[in-house]
Amino acid sequence: MPRQESVKGIVLRVVPTGDGNNLLTVLTGNRGKITVSAPGSRSVSSQRHAICQPFSYGELFITERKADRWYLKEGTPEETFYPLREDLARFALAGYIADVTLQVATEEEEQEDLLRLLLNTLYVLCYRDKPIWFVKAVFEWRLAAIIGFEPDLFSCMECGKTEPPFAFVIEEGQLICTECMLKEGAPPAHPLDVSLPLLRSLLRVPLQKLYSFEADEMLKWEMSSLCEKHLLSHLERTPSTLQFYRSVGE
Ligand SMILES: [Zn+2]
Repeated sequence: MPRQESVKGIVLRVVPTGDGNNLLTVLTGNRGKITVSAPGSRSVSSQRHAICQPFSYGELFITERKADRWYLKEGTPEETFYPLREDLARFALAGYIADVTLQVATEEEEQEDLLRLLLNTLYVLCYRDKPIWFVKAVFEWRLAAIIGFEPDLFSCMECGKTEPPFAFVIEEGQLICTECMLKEGAPPAHPLDVSLPLLRSLLRVPLQKLYSFEADEMLKWEMSSLCEKHLLSHLERTPSTLQFYRSVGE
């Protein structure tokens, strides 16, 4: 008997193949990233058509006909994040977010936090009035922590001092105080004058409250650059979608 399962997941990549089929890459909570073949799903009359769209989230009934090869039996979207398609900058950011998620997601293991972060982020992008630079920075910062690169934001990496002011050493993921920063041979550091309290909170707050903080414009320059550089320093490659986002984003 082939294995049959019901999984909750979001479609992150759709690749058309022959015979009106699609090959989907889906992020699920319990199995991580899976590849699912969806026969006949390119036809708009297909019952599988709606779930086979980028950013469709819902329950998928899948069967395994060959080893590690899943087929979509049926699926119904609970959420399509449709408003993303009505705003080019938000759509571009969602593309980058999907790209990064595909790059860091592992296969056949639990990825509940990653899925939760992704769904919350897309929800805020669609339905909340938060500036997109803020959504991007918060996503990048928390994602890096989820995949194992949580920075140490409590003391200077050189002298152990715990009182600000500090700067952030991207390559170490640690703070450096302004005195140590001026010493010969100190590593290059990123300014961290106004966003330290928020960056600390973003590592601790439950995922459902991640976007409840105020997106103060004063934080924009510092956070945008730091969160992006910190995450990219831990990725194998810079997603090409980042360039597109930069050309249309804020
Ligand atoms: Zn120091």
